[in-house]
Amino acid sequence: MSNLDRLWDIEKHYGNLELFVKELNVLEENKEMLRMENRYQALKQTYEDLVLKKKTLKTHLRKLDQEVQIHEEKFKIAENTLYSGSVTDLKQLNHLEKEKEHHFISIDKLEDDILESMGTSDSVDSEIDNISRDILMLDTELVKKRVEVDSLMSELNDKINNEKSIIEELENSCDENLLVAYHGIRSRKGSGIAEIKNDVCGGCHMRIPENLVEKAKQGKKIINCENCGRILYPLQE
Ligand SMILES: [Zn+2]
Repeated sequence: MSNLDRLWDIEKHYGNLELFVKELNVLEENKEMLRMENRYQALKQTYEDLVLKKKTLKTHLRKLDQEVQIHEEKFKIAENTLYSGSVTDLKQLNHLEKEKEHHFISIDKLEDDILESMGTSDSVDSEIDNISRDILMLDTELVKKRVEVDSLMSELNDKINNEKSIIEELENSCDENLLVAYHGIRSRKGSGIAEIKNDVCGGCHMRIPENLVEKAKQGKKIINCENCGRILYPLQE
């Protein structure tokens, strides 16, 4: 294998390496996964808000029940006093009647409130059910996606390491001065060597003078493109 052949191979493997690194970067900033993760966080937050709402409703309902009980007891006391026969004063009688009515109306109002709160509690329950199902589904999808992305990433990392070791091996057996020149051009142009195809430079696509094409084909000297400076590589046609 000539130095030029090695350079040509090195160029190809750098191309592969760049492609794999690019693919890895795209995977690392996986937009679809990011969207899924954001949605998952939002669902979790909604779920927690609903659980808190449910807890508040439960406390509220307990408080209402206690209030109903208090009014029921007071209602009974007023009723018992009324029918005990001990009340003879008309004013006291009216007062007890009014008290009974007050507790009756309060219980009625509280029971309306209880019914409404129970309705709200039921709808919160069904919302919690729905969101739990969504969270579970998304969680399964995310796990699947993570496994998929992880395996793709490890595959790409293997390919990257493979390309790096091939490049290292090729560079170790390549002429050092030529390699330095090649890297100089490559860092400026993105590639350091270009094929000659139909007397045209594969790097800049400019026509190469016939005498240079001939010299390149002889392979005795390294020939650079007069236009872009890339090392010219005569492909076997
Ligand atoms: Zn050129």
